[in-house]
Amino acid sequence: MIDEIYGSRDTNRGVERTFLWLVEEVGELSEAIRKGDKESMEEEIADVIAWTVSIANIVGIDVEKAIKKKYPDRCPKCKSKPCTCR
Ligand SMILES: [Mg+2]
Ligand SMILES: [Zn+2]
Repeated sequence: MIDEIYGSRDTNRGVERTFLWLVEEVGELSEAIRKGDKESMEEEIADVIAWTVSIANIVGIDVEKAIKKKYPDRCPKCKSKPCTCR
């Protein structure tokens, strides 16, 4: 969905400059957490995820596949859910 809406703009901007936008949004999330402003936290979490997805789109990474590979339905170390690792 992000790719359909912003794909060509993201590609033209390039991965380095798009990453700077992600960093800015992480800063905004930090500020929202510091202020305890839940509505802003909600917005900034959406921004951080959207810019992360934009980066994945630019470099041709399938976000869903990447997440399922790294974070399967249980802890890959102890094989349990919830994780019982210490
Ligand atoms: Mg923001
Ligand atoms: Zn574990």
